[in-house]
Amino acid sequence: MSDASRLPGAFEDRWEWQYRAACRDADFRLFFHPPGERGPAHDDRDAAAKRVCAHCAVRTACLEYALDSREAHGVWGGLTVEERRAALRTRQRTQGPERRRAASGMTRGSRSGRRQAGRRSP
Ligand code: SF4
Repeated sequence: MSDASRLPGAFEDRWEWQYRAACRDADFRLFFHPPGERGPAHDDRDAAAKRVCAHCAVRTACLEYALDSREAHGVWGGLTVEERRAALRTRQRTQGPERRRAASGMTRGSRSGRRQAGRRSP
């Protein structure tokens, strides 16, 4: 499940990229695997979803959204769940300490290091 505390808020300018999504009229089942899907069927469906993403005008915005919100299912921004996990690890290794703190939900001075849900500005 994605982390709703990481969503960008209810401002249309943060979501309007979705109006230009190449998948907007596509069957969502192409992007989310059914329970138990394995092997070639899984790989073929992921590949078909990625082909749609490859020609999408908002791929970067979509991927940033999926990484920021930790989308736990489906193909977003042309990447599978496993590929997004790898991208997040790379992002966390390469970003500065302030952004790393923000991405983890920690605020300056928080002792426990636990997420400060609801305290982040949109
Ligand atoms: S990158 Fe892929 S999943 Fe994201 S909006 Fe475009 S087509 Fe849809």
